[in-house]
Amino acid sequence: MILTEEDYKLIEIYKDMLPSKIFDAHAHVYNGAGLPTACGSGVFYRECVNHETYTADMSDYFPGCDFEINMIPMPDIKIKSDKTVVDKANAYLINILKNDNKNIGSVYVHVTDSEQRIGDLVTNNGIKALKCYHYSAPNPDPETCVISDFLPESAWVVANEKKLPIILHVMRINAILDSENITYVNRMTEKYPDAKLVLAHCGRSFAPHTVVRSADKIADNENIWFDTAAICESPSVIACLKKTKGKRVVWGTDYPICLNIGKPIGMGSGFCWITGDNLPPNCKPAHLIAESLIAHKLAFMLSDLTQTEINAIFYDNAKNLFSLR
Ligand SMILES: [Zn+2]
Repeated sequence: MILTEEDYKLIEIYKDMLPSKIFDAHAHVYNGAGLPTACGSGVFYRECVNHETYTADMSDYFPGCDFEINMIPMPDIKIKSDKTVVDKANAYLINILKNDNKNIGSVYVHVTDSEQRIGDLVTNNGIKALKCYHYSAPNPDPETCVISDFLPESAWVVANEKKLPIILHVMRINAILDSENITYVNRMTEKYPDAKLVLAHCGRSFAPHTVVRSADKIADNENIWFDTAAICESPSVIACLKKTKGKRVVWGTDYPICLNIGKPIGMGSGFCWITGDNLPPNCKPAHLIAESLIAHKLAFMLSDLTQTEINAIFYDNAKNLFSLR
């Protein structure tokens, strides 16, 4: 990783908040077979990524920190037409974790998967959660896709039985503010109280108003969690902290997406990714990981969090979420 000048400046600003132990609740791993379309381009320039490439790429941003990682397969658009890509992505993850007793993983669940199939996947060493993606929906349109189009009820049954988290990236224009999404989240977390639902990316609130304005509509169910992966807008983090009193928020990087230069920001009523290819002239960019960390630092300051509470976001809450103690 080659850091920019601005990266170094941001690290100086945020580094005093970092605990020595970091748990990344949302990082992706892949190899070419499981990511046939994107592998080899952009931030996916490596042939494969795992916990070793992660540590090599992230350590400069976390001086002196030790990592534990929840590794998630990276979704490939080809999943729409070729389900074997899901199997290959899961096989790669399961193989990485075979002899790893430090890190954990989340297997990729396809909308057509049965309880039996999902139950078998979670018996593998280190598999502690489920992940779904809208690409597996019959119509994976990001603006109209409802959650049940890509998250099968069989996943809820298994998650409920085994007390596992389901990591969910909601779609539709208004993300977690969308009434269909909110109704689904409230209904299913009530119906399956032992499953834990993680609303990834603060409920995909790259447009911060979506989670800020939906917080009082989301049920106060103890099994609704948030991860903050790739979020670079402080209000989104603050909304999740307020909603859960800081108890059900976990830090994540969205590695290797966080290797982009630039960041996603609220733009109009939606959001926009201002990254390497479309940076305004004369701006001095940092990498997304540093932008996200500075947004977290500001959110924690504005929320008057103690260091113990900050440590919980970066580590302890994830241990509770994934039942690792
Ligand atoms: Zn992700």
